[in-house]
Amino acid sequence: MSKDPDCIFCKIIAGDIPCFRIYEDEDTLAFMDINPANEGHCLVITKEHAANLYKVSDAAISAAARSAKKVAAVVNAVVGPDGINLVQANGEGAEQSVFHFHLHVMPRRIGDELKMNWGHHPGDMERIKALGEEIAAAIGD
Ligand code: 5GP
Ligand code: ZN
Repeated sequence: MSKDPDCIFCKIIAGDIPCFRIYEDEDTLAFMDINPANEGHCLVITKEHAANLYKVSDAAISAAARSAKKVAAVVNAVVGPDGINLVQANGEGAEQSVFHFHLHVMPRRIGDELKMNWGHHPGDMERIKALGEEIAAAIGD
């Protein structure tokens, strides 16, 4: 499986950078976003390093879709948002900032007026950690 030693998400997969892990299987990893757009915002990444949608293998994107379905259902149950968006960026013009394929699982609230480019503002790490533990326990894998 391809890796990039300079990629922050490859380092998270390798355990060289910590994360609030919520789910993992052979092909994907899910963890809390440390700059959450809303409470419960998390990421599903492929273990394969691929910069974007054009580079990711069919097998890896299929695995990411399956994991996102599972994670979103649990985030929905635990966080209780009014809705969830799956968001995926390709290229700087789309405000992609980490060039390793990932899906954002983004809880939404009615009236939150979240914009497509929501900006990166560090969240409350204790709150993110606690929510991550709750979601991970609810997934149970
Ligand atoms: P993009 O901008 O590429 O669509 O999304 C990248 C996401 O990765 C951003 O939401 C950003 O907050 C998140 N991110 C960047 N670095 C880290 C990190 O070290 N840990 C975690 N948990 N999330 C990160
Ligand atoms: Zn990578």
